Amino acid sequence: MAALVQVLGTLAVLVTLSGSYRLFSFFFDDPLFSGLVAAAVTVAFMIAFPVVTTALGLAVLVAPLVVAYRYRDRLPSTPALPALPDLSGLFDEGLGSSTGETGGQRCPNCGATNDQLNRHCDDCGALLVGGDA
Ligand SMILES: [Zn+2]
Repeated sequence: MAALVQVLGTLAVLVTLSGSYRLFSFFFDDPLFSGLVAAAVTVAFMIAFPVVTTALGLAVLVAPLVVAYRYRDRLPSTPALPALPDLSGLFDEGLGSSTGETGGQRCPNCGATNDQLNRHCDDCGALLVGGDA
């Protein structure tokens, strides 16, 4: 078990080292300088590892509390989801134009699209073609 911990620790150090190197080589053109900075950061990280771990753990625990505290005044009045725009008209038009006659029947009087089962137009009340009065 101790061997596994050592392997994982070595792996973590290598990942930290390579990650730091890539990060710093992004900012600094000199690869040697980037390597030195990355090595220094990695050593500092290894020395401060318990502190860093504790700090990160505390941050993870405290973050939700901080967020809840910051937005405490919004919670009661704000709905869980933002109001959706009314797209029903758009949807109906899209449906009617894409499916043609099968989506409904068009009023011969006013041109409104009605449900297939309607006998009379919802808009103007005219008798629809195909409906037997
Ligand atoms: Zn009509």
